Amino acid sequence: QFIVFEGIEGGGKSTQIEKTQQWLLAGGLGKSVAVVRTREPGGTELGKKLRSMLLESHNFDLDNRSELLLYAADRAQHVNQFLKPQLAQGKIVLCDRFIDSTTAYQGYGRGLDLDLITQLNKIASCGLESDLTLWLDVAVETGLERVKQRGKRDRLEQADLSFHHRVRSGYAKLAMQFPERIVKIDANGTEEQVQQQIRTILRSV
Ligand code: C5P
Repeated sequence: QFIVFEGIEGGGKSTQIEKTQQWLLAGGLGKSVAVVRTREPGGTELGKKLRSMLLESHNFDLDNRSELLLYAADRAQHVNQFLKPQLAQGKIVLCDRFIDSTTAYQGYGRGLDLDLITQLNKIASCGLESDLTLWLDVAVETGLERVKQRGKRDRLEQADLSFHHRVRSGYAKLAMQFPERIVKIDANGTEEQVQQQIRTILRSV
């Protein structure tokens, strides 16, 4: 089972993925399961290199299309070298970001053509689709405040507020477009409240 966590910064994806993994490993679903977690960008050796290039790109001027293609390269490598083999072994894979991030950030955020992105997502994902996508939806201001407190620094700290609002509303549009795949979680609450919502959904699928 391929479960993806999506959303803007500060929604608590990493924390929730870790908590969800622990819960599943401790038998949360009433059975013993193998669970791995991974992320995009950065789930493979190539991906780690691409990740540092992408996140350190405030040091140089990264073209929007180059950025799009680097995320796609990260994804193709991740799908073929990690995701598909792990899923083939029957594992539950918890993944931090997948195709919806590209649509939300490079499409709605940066304004690249959405049809082009859909085509590229098809190429990069090699036919792999998530079984469930949990959209951790947090208010932009709340998310950014959480990120600030963590002291995280990457190229998006230069982005203006309207960019983050466009990305968040991009996720909202995706959730309306793919209601059978994307489930919205209210990520404004405490870690415990968010985790409870995730458990309820995982018990019901
Ligand atoms: O999810 P994580 O914080 O690891 O993402 C790393 C950075 O890359 C974030 O700033 C995120 O917003 C950005 N990103 C992006 N476009 C994507 C995926 C991530 O700008 N398609």
